[in-house]
Amino acid sequence: MDIIDLRSDTVTKPSRGMRKAISKAAVGDDGFGEDPTVNRLQEMAAELLGKEEALFTASGTMSNQIAIKVLTNPGDEVILEVDSHTFNYESGAPAVISRVQLRPLKGKRGMLTAEQIAQTIRGPETPYLETKLVCLENTHNRAGGTVFPLEEMKKIGDLCRAKGIRVYLDGARLFNASVATGISLAEYARNCDAVSVCLSKGLGAPVGSLLAGDKEFIRRAKKARKLLGGGMRQVGILAAAGIYALENNLGRLAEDHRRARYLAEEINGLGGIEIDMDAVQTNIVVMSLANCKLTVPQAIEGLKKEGVLVVPFGHQRIRAVTHLDVSLKDIRKAVEIFRRVFAR
Ligand SMILES: *Cc1c(COP(=O)(O)O)cnc(C)c1O
Repeated sequence: MDIIDLRSDTVTKPSRGMRKAISKAAVGDDGFGEDPTVNRLQEMAAELLGKEEALFTASGTMSNQIAIKVLTNPGDEVILEVDSHTFNYESGAPAVISRVQLRPLKGKRGMLTAEQIAQTIRGPETPYLETKLVCLENTHNRAGGTVFPLEEMKKIGDLCRAKGIRVYLDGARLFNASVATGISLAEYARNCDAVSVCLSKGLGAPVGSLLAGDKEFIRRAKKARKLLGGGMRQVGILAAAGIYALENNLGRLAEDHRRARYLAEEINGLGGIEIDMDAVQTNIVVMSLANCKLTVPQAIEGLKKEGVLVVPFGHQRIRAVTHLDVSLKDIRKAVEIFRRVFAR
């Protein structure tokens, strides 16, 4: 049985073309800054994101943790969204690595507003801790791949600049936001001091994230990466996969978005499935089973038996994600399987 794996856009396997690019990559010791393929990838990323420099890191989590470490001091307060990746899926790293206090706020579909942040900031006038960093996520994973409105990001950027607070953008899926809206990566990144993007999500590379900012930020980020054990050597073989991904797999994200939309439209309402259709903006479909006969484990098991994999996603919810290893034919078949499983 062919498995249609909708658990995450991280499950993609390197294509033949990507493997060929990997096998041909020129390499050197990146510890000496001598890996030409890494250097080229970092230059490409800096250019795309409109920042002075970029740094290749092992994962999105590592980029996030390096950024928090560089942009804060121990005891500082960091504002982020309560459903953000950093608050939920990074093993409490900000407390361990940077010794900061996280201040989670509830956003609408994962999006914080400038007003909300303005009301929350603790400034230098207080005798207590101070807010020093705001972390944003675009697109927002747990909210269902929702896109952060550029206008609000601008307002947040302006507010924070005026208050001397840094802004960091977790752009693990910023490529999806950019393809969905036509707004460039740099336009989004302009409102932030530092930004990261992932190569191993929708772009289909096996490993890697890029962290971008100004020269001084990257100088310090390199030290933090080393501290975390993330300094790498002949890593051009991975950077080559990243370059291949940027050159070949960026535009096609629109297909993933169409397929996610199609899946959501076809299965919303089926056997009690509830989908917030306004949240289906990119490649993620989050569905509530609260009104279904099937429980989450029953639904996951039933779908799995028929060859569709999804993941549990919070209380009475499951998530399906489209990606470059899911064809139009696959998604049509997945719809049929959802119908069979939820009609029971
Ligand atoms: C996947 C993801 C990351 C990084 O995850 P890694 O597994 O560490 O690469 C960071 N932020 C968001 C929003 C993500 O979806």
